[in-house]
Amino acid sequence: MKIVMLGAPGAGKGTQAIKIADKYDIPHISTGDIFRANIKGGTELGQKAKSYIDKGELVPDEVTIGMLLDRIAQDDCKNGYVLDGFPRTIPQAESLTEALKSQGDRIDFALNIDVPDEAIIKRMSGRRACPKCGATYHIVYAAPKTENICDKCGTELIIRSDDKPETVKDRLNVYHQQTEPLIAYYKAAGVLREVDGTQELPKVFEDVVAILSEN
Ligand code: ADP
Ligand code: ADP
Ligand code: ZN
Repeated sequence: MKIVMLGAPGAGKGTQAIKIADKYDIPHISTGDIFRANIKGGTELGQKAKSYIDKGELVPDEVTIGMLLDRIAQDDCKNGYVLDGFPRTIPQAESLTEALKSQGDRIDFALNIDVPDEAIIKRMSGRRACPKCGATYHIVYAAPKTENICDKCGTELIIRSDDKPETVKDRLNVYHQQTEPLIAYYKAAGVLREVDGTQELPKVFEDVVAILSEN
């Protein structure tokens, strides 16, 4: 099963994608996580990506598309994957469609996690991330068992530098301009499914599973 997660920054794409990956035993591929790992590792790719991410802008398609296509060509992607944070532009979506088409394949579901901007701002201000394993928490809605410590690996949680309110506003603008058109793109492809992302986390996942169980 090949799944694309759509939705604004902070809509809950990552939270749901991790649960989908777990349930269906497919890799969770987050372009944001790949960029952050490269920034941390001081790679050339990380250096290229950092200035864009810090400003809340998108990393250019020339960098991002090749990186993602390489990733999904790996062996663990044979039975599918859940893409979180890719595609974010029409050219990215077109490249993905073409790459799959050349193998007689396509995306099965594009799940749009719909959350209005006001709720996004609230979610982002409470988001905490594990710098080691990538797990995401929320101080109110998804608190770790021990305050500020990752449940999975025991590392101290951080506030992502691009989750500052000023940067979140820029990221929302970028979302509306460059990423929201993907909803129409996947609707035209017949694979778009809408999910009400304002519900509590387990209910959102229930709705997601109901959609993925369709035939
Ligand atoms: P969020 O989960 O809050 O939407 P991500 O972790 O997906 O954030 O992305 C963080 C940042 O990484 C983005 O603001 C952007 O700068 C960059 N990025 C991630 N994925 C892409 C992509 N597909 N194209 C361009 N830039 C990307
Ligand atoms: P995205 O990957 O779309 O940027 P995340 O999955 O990181 O979004 O979620 C953003 C923040 O909102 C996190 O702090 C997460 O714990 C929290 N969150 C996710 N889903 C929900 C939900 N349904 N209700 C309340 N908070 C949520
Ligand atoms: Zn962790």
